[in-house]
Amino acid sequence: MIYKPFKDISLSRLGMGNMRLPEAEGSSGPNAKIDYEKAQEIIDYAMSHGVNYYDTAYIYNDGDSERFLGHALQKYPRESFYLATKFFIQATPKPEPVFEEQLERLKTDHIDFYLLHSLSEENVEDYLNSGCIDYFLEQQKKGRIRYLGFSSHAGVETLRRFADHHPWDFAQLQINYFDWKYGTTREEYQVLEERKIPIMVMEPVRGGRLADLTPEENARLKAAHPDWSIASWALRFVKTLPQVQVILSGMSSLEQIRDNVATFREDQALSQADTELLMEVCEQFRSQIQIPCTACRYCCSGCPMGINIPEYLKIYNDYKVTGAWALSYLPGVQSKGTPADCIGCGACASHCPQSIQIPELMAELAELAKAAQ
Ligand code: SF4
Ligand code: SF4
Repeated sequence: MIYKPFKDISLSRLGMGNMRLPEAEGSSGPNAKIDYEKAQEIIDYAMSHGVNYYDTAYIYNDGDSERFLGHALQKYPRESFYLATKFFIQATPKPEPVFEEQLERLKTDHIDFYLLHSLSEENVEDYLNSGCIDYFLEQQKKGRIRYLGFSSHAGVETLRRFADHHPWDFAQLQINYFDWKYGTTREEYQVLEERKIPIMVMEPVRGGRLADLTPEENARLKAAHPDWSIASWALRFVKTLPQVQVILSGMSSLEQIRDNVATFREDQALSQADTELLMEVCEQFRSQIQIPCTACRYCCSGCPMGINIPEYLKIYNDYKVTGAWALSYLPGVQSKGTPADCIGCGACASHCPQSIQIPELMAELAELAKAAQ
């Protein structure tokens, strides 16, 4: 395992994310109970291969993630690992009972890395004005929190404002090569880099989507490095960024952790040629799976059902890259008609400069929406 100094300690570059642990039989989804036996094998593998950073949150698995981790790590000396957990103000607004319960669940008297969870435009005022930051700073003074930070899904401006609140010890960001190229990740990274805030990375493989691209793009990456897994390209990309401290991976099987540990066995990141290839592959991958809608709205005026076609296509593209959770945004689209109302008249497609087969996509979206209910 490779390590990187953080203040007065040393952290493994690979961190164990505990959000996707094996689920107990008959239990699934975000509130699933954990299969303690299978999950313990993963933790034991991580501990025996030098992973010393363990990330969880009050809300993961409806509390079972913290409870499991407290149980799983009990057999190891407390100084042999670092615990990271989080407080999410939108779920539980009072910090004190949450923090006390977390210490109990995790069977510890201190949290090494404590985060305000999932900063966004919706909760930034609550975090800034509720007094919770003062409460956690107080716990830090008492030695019950070692380092205080936050995780963010906020836009660049909100992130900048929050980062300037006080000198945070660290922050957690979603970074992967796809969002680096097509999202605002690069700017978010720069906000933290300018302030010298070390970054813990979440979703380096974009929820697993970058572990398996299209057959053509997989083959191009395999040809360059036959012994690298497709997922390891994503991890190696993040590893090259100097402000990055720990790279979290939400591992749910021994196979995954074996592959990830192998990737972090040595400090070999990506060469310039590798990075160029990866960016080309990323571009091709995107063009193969996404619809080239430019949101020009030429299709909308002729639709007799008043369907907000570009908004639905945006969700369709997110679904192709991110997976089924993107479909949860379908009911929130501002639109008179839904994809299920499409009568297949084709009036939209004849106006589309990108020649997108809109009626077919509306039918597919209607099916997906039905399956997601
Ligand atoms: S095919 Fe469907 S989406 Fe297109 S104009 Fe007709 S009803 Fe609207
Ligand atoms: S006309 Fe085509 S490119 Fe323009 S918004 Fe409609 S689907 Fe998208």
